[in-house]
Amino acid sequence: MSKKFYITTPIYYVNDVPHIGHAYTTIAADVAARYKRLGGHDVFFLTGTDEHGQKVQQAAIEAGKSPQDHVDSLYIRFKELWQKLNISHTDFIRTTEPRHKKVVQEILQDLHDRGEIYKDSYEGWYCMPDERFWTEKDLVDGNCPECGRKVEKIKEYNYFFKMGQHQDWLIEQIQSNEKFILPASRRNEVLGFLQKPLEDLCISRPKERLSWGIPLPFDDDYVTYVWFDALINYISVHGSLADVRASGYWPTSHHLIGKDILTTHAVYWSTMLKAMDLAVPDNIFAHGWWTVNGQKMSKSLRNVVEPNLLIEQFGVDVIRYFLLREVPFGLDGDFSHKALIGRINSDLANNLGNLVNRTLNMLGKYFKGIVPQPDAAGDEDALLKKKCSEVVGEVDKLFDELAFSKILMKIWELLDTSNQYINNTAPWNLAKSEEGKKRLATVMYNSAEAVRVIGILISPFMPETGDKIMAQLGIDTPVNQQGLDSLKQWGWIKAETQTHQGAQIFPRIDDPAAAKLLASIETGSEPEKTEPPEQITIEDVMKLDLRTAKILEAEKVKKSKKLIKLKVDLGNEQRQVLAGIAETYEPEQLIGRTVILVANLKPAKLMGLESQGMILAGSSGKKIVLAGFDEALDLGARVK
Ligand SMILES: [Zn+2]
Repeated sequence: MSKKFYITTPIYYVNDVPHIGHAYTTIAADVAARYKRLGGHDVFFLTGTDEHGQKVQQAAIEAGKSPQDHVDSLYIRFKELWQKLNISHTDFIRTTEPRHKKVVQEILQDLHDRGEIYKDSYEGWYCMPDERFWTEKDLVDGNCPECGRKVEKIKEYNYFFKMGQHQDWLIEQIQSNEKFILPASRRNEVLGFLQKPLEDLCISRPKERLSWGIPLPFDDDYVTYVWFDALINYISVHGSLADVRASGYWPTSHHLIGKDILTTHAVYWSTMLKAMDLAVPDNIFAHGWWTVNGQKMSKSLRNVVEPNLLIEQFGVDVIRYFLLREVPFGLDGDFSHKALIGRINSDLANNLGNLVNRTLNMLGKYFKGIVPQPDAAGDEDALLKKKCSEVVGEVDKLFDELAFSKILMKIWELLDTSNQYINNTAPWNLAKSEEGKKRLATVMYNSAEAVRVIGILISPFMPETGDKIMAQLGIDTPVNQQGLDSLKQWGWIKAETQTHQGAQIFPRIDDPAAAKLLASIETGSEPEKTEPPEQITIEDVMKLDLRTAKILEAEKVKKSKKLIKLKVDLGNEQRQVLAGIAETYEPEQLIGRTVILVANLKPAKLMGLESQGMILAGSSGKKIVLAGFDEALDLGARVK
């Protein structure tokens, strides 16, 4: 019987717009799942959506829908993105499905029957949007420490899960098992958290306050706290507690999560499992967060790295590769399109694409595209085979640690060795002589086999590329059926195989194309054409009524980052002018300066304020400098 492997992503909050962070976790889980399948494991890969809670209820009201209609219209965005990203999940669970609700209620009833849940009064500071209580000392300036919003003091009866009693057990679990929580920094974080007494967990919300949740089976006035509900998805997908025990998929091999939900998994979930008498997961892996171009993720930056858009711009395999190669799994990373293009060119086009291309090219040229029968092996061949078996072994070990970036570096070592093998054996010289031809057959056979091995190893990361490589090699057996077993012995590819050289699998993005792409990404539009400015006549220039003016008053326009409101004096009149210079100038710097005003510009309204003219300034990049004079001039003087 094949070994079972169970991997999960968190269930994503259905109200969120799917972003690069969701994509990252899900791709990582997918790569691990695909690799284990290659190794012959019986893999269960779970993802889904978390659909209960206050924020969903609120958003549904605002959208004028029932909560169920609301979530039905939203969860599909995740499902569709996973399809585009070639995510190979076994199941997609939604917490509003009957199969989930039933199991949550069974578990609650069981825990209640066994005295693990009790009712008590509770007083605390409640953050409505975050749906959680805080203690007095948690608050920051009297507000919610998580979102900064106002909190309310609430006293009410609720149900509690006896989490505190499992504190010593949990510490022992973490200390005795180095792989339980990874990376090590996160493990230490949880141990640090557990130095304070662990309180019991409030697991209910009164229905009068929140109705969109799973009703407690033993008290109809309450629904289940959203985390207690959501975490159980890892079980409910398999059925009841008895079903999950019988499924063979327990304990979970890896729960992949973002570092923001470490406590809920490492502490809440582990103690919940203990109370249910189920084993804790083999591993909880908390990965880092992405910045974009060195900046913290904001709404506008999120749009620039919107996953659907990235797939359109670069292709799905490029995105999958980049996210897992760029940053060690567990650390924070920075996304930049420039770095992405760099990786396409260096790793994918110059290295991988080039190796595939030149191998197929030479097979075509020297053997009519047919993989030749190899002859006796020499030292160069032994080196290539040795490297290959070393990389296959290392990759397998590194997958246990989910060290995706290191795995890719290892595979690229094999790419380098394969490229060197071709350089050192110089097929183009061997082809010149009759006695060289036997050696040439061996070299080309080994090169083809190396490309196959690489195609298998990269296929969990880049499934489409793996398939493309097999198609070019003329191998009909799908990657999955070749499997990791086919890498254990050199020489799986059959002589006489007819290859089919195709297009370069990763074309280079040359500098002008890269510049154009980057410019369009920055502005969110097609790059502007740089045509020489149109020429105008002196009459056109004379149409401009340019006047000197002195700045009398200056103040920033509220809610605008760029605008400053100015009062300027033209000698015979004063005007209000708005200038987009607040990023360069402080209002105080401006008072008393003489500037040039376009006096006959039609007045316009900006941010609800009238602007009667325009101040001339030069700009380069983000820097703006006001145009002015060396010496003083009368106010209102004409400028030509
Ligand atoms: Zn809050």
